[in-house]
Amino acid sequence: MTTAADGDRGGNIFDDAIKRLDRAFEFAEIDAEAVERLKHPRAIVQVSVPVRMDDGSLRIFEGYRVRHDDSRGPGKGGVRFHPDVNLHEVKALAFWMTCKCAVVGIPYGGAKGGVVVNPKELSRLELERLSRGFIRQIGEFIGPESDIPAPDVYTNAMIMGWMMDEYSKMQGQRTPAVITGKPIPLGGSLGREDATGRGAYYCIKELERQKGWDPGRIRVAVQGFGNAGQHVARLLHEDNYRIVAVSDSKGGIFKQDGFDVPSLIRFKNESRQLKAVYCDGSVCEMVDADTISNEELLALDVDVLVPAALENVFTGENARKVRAPVIVEVANGPTTSDGDAVLNEAKKLVVPDILANAGGVTVSYFEWVQNKQGYYWTEPEVQERLREIMTRAFNAVYDLAERRSIDMRTAAYAYALTRIGEAIEAVGTQSFFQAGH
Ligand code: GLU
Repeated sequence: MTTAADGDRGGNIFDDAIKRLDRAFEFAEIDAEAVERLKHPRAIVQVSVPVRMDDGSLRIFEGYRVRHDDSRGPGKGGVRFHPDVNLHEVKALAFWMTCKCAVVGIPYGGAKGGVVVNPKELSRLELERLSRGFIRQIGEFIGPESDIPAPDVYTNAMIMGWMMDEYSKMQGQRTPAVITGKPIPLGGSLGREDATGRGAYYCIKELERQKGWDPGRIRVAVQGFGNAGQHVARLLHEDNYRIVAVSDSKGGIFKQDGFDVPSLIRFKNESRQLKAVYCDGSVCEMVDADTISNEELLALDVDVLVPAALENVFTGENARKVRAPVIVEVANGPTTSDGDAVLNEAKKLVVPDILANAGGVTVSYFEWVQNKQGYYWTEPEVQERLREIMTRAFNAVYDLAERRSIDMRTAAYAYALTRIGEAIEAVGTQSFFQAGH
């Protein structure tokens, strides 16, 4: 059995993540004690999930659910299935959820779950048993008013459907609001599928307005071509932006005058990897691209760089190789705190993860509201409300950064801390003692 601290990628990612709190504190209106509280997750469950495999053998999978904070509402956050999942990572991801929900002003705290598994190695039935087994184990810990899971890396709507069904069986009643990102027939929301990419796209549209960009001249590189990366590339392409490079875990491709993104998405999803896009003769001719490594992609001379894969992409060592002036963090935690320092010194404009990728959880919130009301919105309604929230949050953070001459990440954390502080203050007794009663 693995211990909680096993398999951490690149040091303790949670400890590194919370360093941002101290930096932002100075610009936030929040009590120091409340900030101290945010350095410690409220609750953690660690479970082991026995799964009967198709060949009759038994495998035990480790899983976690972390509730980081619930000052502003029930815990909210995805469940990740990945071989590198570990407790530090899940804690960091839960912490980012707390901050993210506060930045966009939706009434949630932060939570996250993870199972140590490579889902690509499981059959569909094994995956279903694992998903249901995980929910049975954490069932007591989650609920529509306490902690609401959702998809994350390598989990999807189908898995959310199984999880909701399993939870509903445990409760003896249909409970769609316990989980978001469900298939539409099971109470999912229209517009949830592309919401993370779309939220980042709305941020880029605001940058376009602020900076007076001509989209046709803006070259974009996207690292990571899963759900979020694909949709942000697609939406930008529709607006005439030039997507000149994309990569996935197997490698990347580059094309000076920009890709036809819909065909790239089609190839990627048919072959399951971008590599096949250029390895297969006919397709190779069709896309006419050069191959590049992930490292090369990050150092490309482009206008906007979009990390849309996993954590720890920009570190103190490699961040100085970044040539793009603007980075839009669609992944969670792509920049370490050392990486931050380097990017700030180089005067890069970084739209931080807790803002840029908040579109997913925002539409999750819409889904939860619809489930509770039993009344469903149209896709244009979802998109319009998402645009409103993302644009407002982007401008609040951008303005704070300008006003205080700080980077956008610090501004986003300061803004989030102030929101969290208001909630804590509203139920607390701190002001009573401070007033000297
Ligand atoms: N996993 C997504 C995130 O990191 C979505 C979470 C949610 O919808 O609750 O933001």
